[in-house]
Amino acid sequence: MNKKIVVLPGDGIGQEVTAEGRAILEAVASVFDHQFSFDTALIGHAAIESTGDPLPEATLDKLRNCDAILFGAVGHPKYDNDPSAKIRPEQGLLKMRKELGLYANLRPIKLFDELLGASSIKPEVLKGSDILFFRELTGDVYFGERGRRDNNLTAYDTMIYTRYEVERIAHKAFAAARTRRKKVMSVDKANVLESSRLWREVVQAVSAEYPDVTLEHQFVDSAAMLLIKNPRAFDVVVTGNLFGDILTDEASQIAGSMGMLASASVGDRVGLYEPIHGSAHDITGKGIANPLASILSAALLLDISFGLKSESDAVIEAVSSVLKDGYRTVDIKDESTPKDKILNTRQMGEQVEKRIRTLSKPAH
Ligand code: NAD
Repeated sequence: MNKKIVVLPGDGIGQEVTAEGRAILEAVASVFDHQFSFDTALIGHAAIESTGDPLPEATLDKLRNCDAILFGAVGHPKYDNDPSAKIRPEQGLLKMRKELGLYANLRPIKLFDELLGASSIKPEVLKGSDILFFRELTGDVYFGERGRRDNNLTAYDTMIYTRYEVERIAHKAFAAARTRRKKVMSVDKANVLESSRLWREVVQAVSAEYPDVTLEHQFVDSAAMLLIKNPRAFDVVVTGNLFGDILTDEASQIAGSMGMLASASVGDRVGLYEPIHGSAHDITGKGIANPLASILSAALLLDISFGLKSESDAVIEAVSSVLKDGYRTVDIKDESTPKDKILNTRQMGEQVEKRIRTLSKPAH
């Protein structure tokens, strides 16, 4: 298979972890006889520094003309502590999602059994958890009207959804539920918010087209509580941009660490694959970032954008095997991890790559 992949390392540990995600895609191409060509482009702080624009037109051009995107993260402490900055790295990410029509963010939350001890949640509560979040990505308070008034004494953001935006993400969630346990939980705040009442109305209407799938509604506050109390009760979850942002970070603790969670953003055209974590300035440059979220993002890319399910499974199996052999990065180690099994970013990537490269080439 011939495919064009654009790598967007972005900022901070984005640079460090996408190098490992890319190395895994190269290993897969070589073992399974595919031709993947790679190009890189600028986004975020790195792009502002060299062009003044967090998403330069040259980057957008490349993104519009490729088959899949492997993204790292954007962000820099300089902007986190300066709310007045007019140009910000995150604008690059939001604009990219809008421009490419990436309206559905899929976040699979599955705990590798080997990491049961790495979470702060009790193993007996966690074991067997397997959740698939659908977070809406191009609407909500992130894109509604915002501003200041009353001589800067008041600030406002507008939570806004259209029927069409809710319908298309609901369809994605119900279709996925059919391949799983045939359950969808829709999360909103319909007891308070008008946009949530529209959300609920539309999800309910869409559910009529999927009579074999059970629909349950939860308010976001109750969903946040239940997620920690009984994560096994969740299967497919569909929710808006803001609630999804918060709930999936919470759910990262089910998978042991932010460094373990991959995501796919899809829409009508090209798909974008990225870890759910940010640029993590606190550990940038130390070489200790966990690259598995980027590597698992590469696995999602192979499956969703290229339909290469066996190749994707091979990557997940390689990650599982590395964990079974006791290797850990610092964020997922526990008291029982021996010192010689604690790996840095590169070493963890190499362990996964080694296992893929030892797979025999499939017969044609
Ligand atoms: P973060 O996800 O970068 O980090 C949160 C915590 O998790 C930190 O302690 C970090 O060290 C740890 N962590 C994250 N990824 C890890 C990994 N792979 N291995 C080991 N530990 C890991 O979130 P934050 O600290 O709130 O934000 C930092 C910057 O990232 C900010 O500028 C923020 O705007 C940006 N951000 C970007 C994205 C994105 O690009 N998609 C998402 C979230 C935050």
